[in-house]
Amino acid sequence: RLVLGLETSCDETGAAVVRLDAERSELLADVVASSMDEHARFGGIIPEIASRAHLEQMIPVVTTALERAEVELSDLDAIAVTAGPGLVGPLTVGAAAAKALAVGLEVPLYGVNHVVGHAVVDELVHGPFPERVMALVVSGGHSSLLMIDDTVGVTELGQTLDDAAGEAFDKVGRLLGLPYPGGPHIDRLAREGDPTAIRFPRGLTAAKDQAKHATDFSFSGLKTAVARWVEAKQDAGEEIPLNDVAASFSDAVSDVLTAKTIAACRAHGVDTLIVGGGFSANSQLRDMAATRCAEAGIDVRIPPIKYCTDNGAMIAALGAAVLRRDLPPSPLDLPVDSSMPLTQVLV
Ligand code: ATP
Ligand code: MG
Ligand code: FE
Repeated sequence: RLVLGLETSCDETGAAVVRLDAERSELLADVVASSMDEHARFGGIIPEIASRAHLEQMIPVVTTALERAEVELSDLDAIAVTAGPGLVGPLTVGAAAAKALAVGLEVPLYGVNHVVGHAVVDELVHGPFPERVMALVVSGGHSSLLMIDDTVGVTELGQTLDDAAGEAFDKVGRLLGLPYPGGPHIDRLAREGDPTAIRFPRGLTAAKDQAKHATDFSFSGLKTAVARWVEAKQDAGEEIPLNDVAASFSDAVSDVLTAKTIAACRAHGVDTLIVGGGFSANSQLRDMAATRCAEAGIDVRIPPIKYCTDNGAMIAALGAAVLRRDLPPSPLDLPVDSSMPLTQVLV
């Protein structure tokens, strides 16, 4: 069976085709167009601009995905679309396109969860999930620790109490004078810096916080600590060692994310970890997760970078997982939900 997945939760218009067999899902094509260039000068995503770009890109992106997959519209057996969480205007454009296709082709429609898709896309790369996995989803809007059973059953163990990891990177990027989004720029600088140069705080790791927030994260205190440190240097008329600040800041974020995630794997007896979401493109996080999971005897699966940031493959992968389990399709008037709970995989 063939599933078309559509993603429009933020600034990427994504369409992908996945073939679902009895056991595995295979990615046939994945096409992404981004409107990021139009937002960069504003220092953040402008929802109206993103919505309009989705409207313009949707048909070309879907057409290209079908061409690359060498399938026709009429070959499709199901349409999956991001129902949330995300920006309501952009989500609405994707949902409208998905509904039109589902009605026109008379195939089922599945409105699925974007954040869960960030984890499940890994099935296309490394094969079906084992019965129970831990998933660390770190992105522009989320830093969440999920326990996932049979690919579609989600328990939320923890989340960030303030900024998401990617958001913290983008804010620190701004204070260091880097272009938006700052995440990839900090990553690049950090590779040239010394992660031990500055000891920045590790949020929610003190014993008193651990008791209550063992699986929660907090990055806004760290962001403030970086701001203070940079201000102090500027006031003293000293040059800011950008590489060392980036490396030390990145180290603090990756340290907390990996330490807490591995502790949760141990506490729940889970030996497979999936790391996904835009921030999982971060090279320090990828390295640290690989090293620490190897030491802990945990099998860590991180998709290639192109499947970490937003794309249609993640939605097609989750749609295929839902289809394989014969879950009931979404209603044709499916509502988009900008704050869709992570425990809700399907509308
Ligand atoms: P969500 O998935 O929570 O709805 P989103 O879709 O906006 O949020 P993604 O597109 O998944 O987020 O991820 C974008 C984020 O990832 C941005 O904050 C960006 O700075 C960050 N990011 C991308 N590459 C890197 C990198 N190499 N290092 C650090 N951060 C990165
Ligand atoms: Mg994006
Ligand atoms: Fe995302």
